[in-house]
Amino acid sequence: MENPVSPVNPVIVAIDGPSGTGKSSTSRAVAAKLGLSYLDTGAQYRAITWWMLSNGVDVNDPDAVADAVDKPVIISGTDPGNAAISVDGVDAAGPIRTAAVTAAVSAVSAVPEVRSRMVAYQREVAGAALTGIVVEGRDIGTTVLPSATVKIFLTASAEARAARRSSELNGAQSVADTQAALIRRDAADSGRKTSPLAKADDAIEVDTTELTLQQVIERVVALVEEKRAIR
Ligand code: C5P
Repeated sequence: MENPVSPVNPVIVAIDGPSGTGKSSTSRAVAAKLGLSYLDTGAQYRAITWWMLSNGVDVNDPDAVADAVDKPVIISGTDPGNAAISVDGVDAAGPIRTAAVTAAVSAVSAVPEVRSRMVAYQREVAGAALTGIVVEGRDIGTTVLPSATVKIFLTASAEARAARRSSELNGAQSVADTQAALIRRDAADSGRKTSPLAKADDAIEVDTTELTLQQVIERVVALVEEKRAIR
């Protein structure tokens, strides 16, 4: 039987991978190009971490984090042209990118109660997207949306990822320090018990080390269009 494309059958694109692989830039551009919504799940974990830090919760105490998990009201926008996020009605897009949040986010996101709250919200947002959505994170293809239409797993060498991240930070941190911090965060994200950073068995791996951002975007758009055509 024919399987019509959106709005009856929205396309769901899961983009996972470690930091510095170009996930966010790729995901936003692919969503904009294909007329899809966009959800940055990392921003949600950063938002809850920012709230914990701002409200004196010890982020290294999983019980304290779990007790507070339902307190902040987190709302994510889904416009790829304006990746908005608010916490208790306050625009959090800037504060969630601070070094303090980046250093604490892996501990907070490893707490099972944090993950179950966020995963439920992520599924709700994805389910409400009429034409479809690009969702980026670490566990989207494995846990959040295991029946996504297309699953992409972006990788790149540690050196390339550190160089990209360091230039995003305008050289505020050396490439060597950035690389050490990335490796620490990847190890924490991959090693946690609840939905770790992992490639789904049916995800397509794209190594971005030698590719420009434009090439990565084109490759992912082509993969989505290929899947859409055969559905
Ligand atoms: O993507 P970004 O670097 O902003 O993600 C920040 C952190 O949020 C990650 O290091 C990880 O600890 C957590 N995260 C997660 N699961 C996701 C997305 C992000 O645990 N789906």
